[in-house]
Order: sequence, then structure tokens, then C-alpha cells
Amino acid sequence: MENLVNLSYIVASILFVFGIKMLGNAATARKGNLLSSVGMGLAILVTLLESGLDLKLVIAALLVGSVIGFVAAKRVQMTGMPELVALFNGFGGLASLLVGWAEYQRISHATTETVLGKIANAVDTAFVDMDAFTATVTVLAILIGGITFTGSMYAWGKLSGKLGGRALTFPAQKAFNALLALGIIVTGIVFAFDPTGSLGYPMLITVIVLSLLLGIFAVMPIGGGDMPVVISLLNSCSGLAACAAGFVIQNNVLIVAGCLVGASGLILTVIMCKAMNRTLVNVLFSGFGASAQSTGGTSTGEMKPVSVEDAYYILEAAKNVIVIPGYGMAVAQAQHAVKELGEILEENGCEIRYAIHPVAGRMPGHMNVLLAEADVPYEQLCEMDDVNPTIEMVDVAIVIGANDVVNPAAADDPSSPIYGMPIINAHKAKTTFCLKRGKGAGFSGLENALFTAPNTRMIYGDAKATVTGLVAQFKDS
Ligand code: NDP
Repeated sequence: MENLVNLSYIVASILFVFGIKMLGNAATARKGNLLSSVGMGLAILVTLLESGLDLKLVIAALLVGSVIGFVAAKRVQMTGMPELVALFNGFGGLASLLVGWAEYQRISHATTETVLGKIANAVDTAFVDMDAFTATVTVLAILIGGITFTGSMYAWGKLSGKLGGRALTFPAQKAFNALLALGIIVTGIVFAFDPTGSLGYPMLITVIVLSLLLGIFAVMPIGGGDMPVVISLLNSCSGLAACAAGFVIQNNVLIVAGCLVGASGLILTVIMCKAMNRTLVNVLFSGFGASAQSTGGTSTGEMKPVSVEDAYYILEAAKNVIVIPGYGMAVAQAQHAVKELGEILEENGCEIRYAIHPVAGRMPGHMNVLLAEADVPYEQLCEMDDVNPTIEMVDVAIVIGANDVVNPAAADDPSSPIYGMPIINAHKAKTTFCLKRGKGAGFSGLENALFTAPNTRMIYGDAKATVTGLVAQFKDS
């Protein structure tokens, strides 16, 4: 039986690895997701069959959890996806905390009974005592799980606007957080030295309380716009917590799955920071978003509006168009209309490409997911580095609800807070249409010289209405 269990765990782990690999490509991502789900299903099934649990309770919990997960995933809007991921991460962290806590209760309870038994008849041996390794991984599962839980809940509150998106800071906040972290380390070490002694349980409860507090206070000073990076980091933490919980209950597949989540979450975090040209330390501790950004990126020219009808005439004559989508396309849910416009332009003999910036929108792959949902052919999606070298040859660049990712200040204004962030050089196209509702700033709150550039024309209005208007112009002509 043990061999069969381990064999199934190896199969499940292989399915996870191949699933994650396939997620790296839009064409295979759905299959990758399915493959990983099958692996997870297998791991759950084998674990349940092996452990001799009260299956009635477990199956009831599984059903309730599955129904909630299914409904939540069905109902979530694309723009709300980072919030859902935050919730999932948080509950993953909570689960690891509870596993560590419950396992400690089980072992310490058994130890107490054994000790009492020893006093009574001096025969039994204290074989269930908690060794230092188990105590250490227990405290790790609890502390990482606790930080992940409240940190993710706070991130969810910020992203959903329930707690306000602004970074909240107070005097000596960093020192306060450092004190909390120190408290966790000290109580954790005291616990690990003598987990079943008289100080063991109070220390563990202190670790739980301090970790839950640290989760909140660590996320509090980070701006709402940086939450996707924080969520990716917390995702990594939820994996590490699960890995520690796997060591606590000695479950191999939980260890492997936890490591995979921990590593992939960390890689994603690093990629996101790189794409914004910021360090993780800067994201976590700079308080970016604590106050409105007002320096850098100022522009002196005037924005020149153009009507949908006039824009149509220019597009009608274009031979080469790139679409640069951003967060506004997600807000407007304009992706289907954008795809229709792309098809019409193609029928008109125009070459169409979609230039995707790695941090356009509010989560990694945000634009890829939206365009894939609208069935935009994958071959038409281009990366920033493929588009920039030849963008001067592009007849029309249509910037749809993007702002920071096309802000020239990132390339040529060293005083700008986003200086150094790679951008798509929309300002170098022959003509650039910028679709936005008004003069609203982007995520960084900066002005954008692209909007006042000589070759730029603004088309004001909701992106979906504007693109639908352009489609109508083509159809009516
Ligand atoms: P921005 O947030 O910079 O700009 C969005 C623009 O969309 C605004 O100028 C807004 O202007 C416009 N807009 C909003 N709603 C609509 C609508 N309904 N119709 C038309 N336009 C609309 O978006 P970008 O995608 O350019 O940049 C993403 C930013 O988010 C970057 O700064 C990035 O660093 C940051 N970020 C991204 C992460 C990711 O993983 N993708 C993670 C963390 C941060 P107006 O109000 O006038 O309409």
C-alpha cells in the first residue's frame, strides 16, 4: 500500500510539473491547468484512501469547498481575478496554519497522556514526544501560514477597494514591524526548544497572534497598485507554508506541491519587479502610493482630440496597425470589440498586431488572458521587444486604455518615478490614437507626454464604445 501511495504521489508531482510548464504558453495553458488539476485530484484521492480518516466529514467538507470554489471562479470578472487569487492564497495559508496547530494539539495531547500513563504505571515510553525538526517545521507552517492569511486578506481588501487602495504608513512603522518579526523569531525558537514543556503552548499561541498581526502590518504600507506583486509573493509564501505543513504531517506530495508553488510564485514576483524596473525591497518598503505622485513626467503641450469618424479615415488607409492594450481595456471589457476591429482591418488589407507589455493591466498576463478570451489569434500577439525596434514603420498605433506602459518619461526623464521601466514606444509610431475616458492618470499617477505628442490624437470615451464606434464606421462605409 505504501509503495502504491508513493507511486501515485510521484505521478501527481509529474503532472504538476508538466502542468506548470504548459501554463507558460497561451496555446497550451488550458491543458496545463487540466493536467495539474488531475494531479491534485489524484493526490487528494490517494491521501484520503491512505489515512483512514472519517470520510463522511471529509467528503462533506470537499463538497462545500468545491461548490464555493466553482461558484466564485464562475462569477469572478476578469478585472477581479487578482482579488480571487488573494483569497485563495489566504485560505491556503490558513489551512497550513491549522494543519500545524492541529498536529501540535494531537502530538502534545498524546504526550500528556503518555506522561500521565508513565506516572500511573511506569511502563509506557514517551514515543510521541515532538522532536526538534517537527517542532521547527510546525512553527514555520504556522508563522508563514498566519502571515499569508492576514496579508492576503488585507491585500484582497485593498484590491477590492473595501480598505482603500492607498498605502497606510505611521511613524516608526518599520521599527514596529521589525519588533513583531523579532517577537515571532524569539517565541518560535523558545517553542522549538521545548515544544511539549509548560511554555510550549503559550509560545505557539503567541507565534500565531504575532504572525497574524505581521501579515496585516506588512501589507498596510504597500499601495493598492503594487498588490499584484504582493499577491504573487504571498502566493509563494502559501506554497512554503504548505511545504512546511507537508513536513509536519510527513506527506510527500504536499512537500512537492508546496515547493512548486513557492518557487513559481517567487519567480513570478521577480519577473513583475523586473518589468517595472523596481526591486522587491522597493515594492515592499518604499510606501509607493502613500501620497499622490506629482514629480516627473510633466508635459507642456495640449492634447488634440479627434472624432471616431476622422479616426476611421486614417485607419481605413493604414497598412500596418498595432494595438497596445492596457488596464483601461480590462475596465471597459473592450476585448471582443477590439478583436472585431482587428478582423475588419485585416479584411481591409491591413497587417494587425497586438503589442503586450508584461505589466499592462493589474496582473501578469492580464492582457493575454483578455485577448485569448476574445479568441484573438495567438500569432498576432507580440512582445514589447519584438515591436519596439520597428515601431517607426507602424502607420497607426492604437493605445487602448494603456498609460504607464507607454509613458515616454520612463525612457527619457530621469526624475520620473517610473524612469527605467521598459515601455512600448507608441510615441514613435507615425500616428498614435489614445483611447481613454478623460484626463485621468494611470496607476503611477503621472502625466504622460505621449498624449500631447505631435503625432498623437486622443479619442475620448469608454474604450468599448469607441472601438464599437470604429467598427460601425467600417461596416457603414
Ligand atoms: P494604467 O493604470 O497606467 O492606465 C490605465 C488607463 O486606462 C488610464 O489612463 C485610464 O484613463 C484608462 N481607462 C480606465 N478605464 C477606461 C475605460 N473604461 N475606457 C478607456 N480608458 C480607460 O494602465 P497600464 O496598463 O498602462 O499600466 C499598468 C500599471 O500597473 C503599470 O504602472 C504597472 O507597473 C502597474 N502594475 C501592473 C501589474 C501587473 O501585473 N500587470 C502589477 C502591479 C502594478 P481615464 O481614467 O482617463 O480613462
